[in-house]
Amino acid sequence: MSRAQNKQPTPYNPPKCWVGNKHKVCYPDQETAEMSARLVEVEHGLKVGTLTCYHCEYGDHWHLASSPQR
Ligand SMILES: [Zn+2]
Repeated sequence: MSRAQNKQPTPYNPPKCWVGNKHKVCYPDQETAEMSARLVEVEHGLKVGTLTCYHCEYGDHWHLASSPQR
């Protein structure tokens, strides 16, 4: 099966920032971050609540973080 990679509606290049040694996507507000968290969970077949969002300490934006699973 081939995916249509050239049919993406809008090229989305989210801003990113370095947190520790990780390059993380920045979200402008908590709502957007939480929405994206749910989307990523669905995409990766994760349980709802696997991803959490938090306010970045380096700027006025939000990041996603995965809560550790047991
Ligand atoms: Zn940040």
